[in-house]
Amino acid sequence: MLIVMKPQATEENIRRVCEKIEAMGFRTHPIPGAQRTAIGITGNQGPLEPAEFECLPGVAEAIPVSKPYKLVSREVKSERSLIRVGSGDNLVTIGGRELAIIAGPCAIESREQAFIAAGQVRKAGARLFRGGAFKPRTSPYSFQGLGKEALEILAEVRRQFGLAIVTETIDPENCALVEEYADVLQIGARNMQNFSLLKRAGRSPRPVLLKRGLSATLEEFLMAAEYILSEGNYNVILCERGVRTFADHTRNTLDLSVIPAVKRLSHLPIIVDPSHGTGARDKVTPLARAAVAVGADGLIIEVHPEPERALSDGYQSLYPDQFDALMEQITAIGAILGRTTARD
Ligand code: PEP
Ligand code: MN
Repeated sequence: MLIVMKPQATEENIRRVCEKIEAMGFRTHPIPGAQRTAIGITGNQGPLEPAEFECLPGVAEAIPVSKPYKLVSREVKSERSLIRVGSGDNLVTIGGRELAIIAGPCAIESREQAFIAAGQVRKAGARLFRGGAFKPRTSPYSFQGLGKEALEILAEVRRQFGLAIVTETIDPENCALVEEYADVLQIGARNMQNFSLLKRAGRSPRPVLLKRGLSATLEEFLMAAEYILSEGNYNVILCERGVRTFADHTRNTLDLSVIPAVKRLSHLPIIVDPSHGTGARDKVTPLARAAVAVGADGLIIEVHPEPERALSDGYQSLYPDQFDALMEQITAIGAILGRTTARD
């Protein structure tokens, strides 16, 4: 249920509504808007009676929410969410006019590799840096990441290059360490339905980049985001990274149609990962261009100074000059749609 307050409702009116909801044993989620405040209710197992709330002072109406996901839905919040990432010189807003461009290697392999990559992507116009410290790999024998050492390198990258840091957290126990260093917690495709991790991320002070699961429907994807919001963290950025299909000419099938579908149903920003979405370097640039054209709020792209020597995902990592050319192109495509990049 969503309680919509009147535009002239006072703080006292809002507080009274929240108290009533909490006294019933449910959770309140005040959602301030440009015109009026709305209050989302979660935790109720069955439908609530609108009249119980409509009689309270300052309440305009109480609307049942029809979708199984509540807080992520546009029924509850029609204005687009802007997610603020980082602070000071590294502050980036995701979901606004500027495209959020996150670039860097699949994994942090050494201080030198990270620094070279950071300098290259920064120069090309990225504002956020990616790089795995903890790598969930299909094979237990593959490179698993440098762990805490990589997080320390990432913190240096932030200081040195003014880039906000995006890196993956792999389980609830690991969250505290990652959130100490990262500006954004990435939750990987394989963990999209790791509900204890989602709940832990929902209690984090950091924004969360939530990747779509390998075979997740749109509803499952939005329900996973709902887990995070329901714990009180409203700063979620969705990421389409391809799903499993019968098609075998790419690693995954990048589902660009999910972008307009998400925008219809949710106020959360959504970005695209054409690197994991295609798994092939020659397809990353065309699909990145298409993602911007279709209305994505940004891109996350693997770029490596020497892809042939990468310890993971080298075959899908762009060479730095390819990333530079891509930035030029998406800046032009974005301009047609009223979007900007830091390269402008
Ligand atoms: C990654 O971004 O490095 C990654 C492992 O992605 P995904 O979870 O989408 O496979
Ligand atoms: Mn990768």
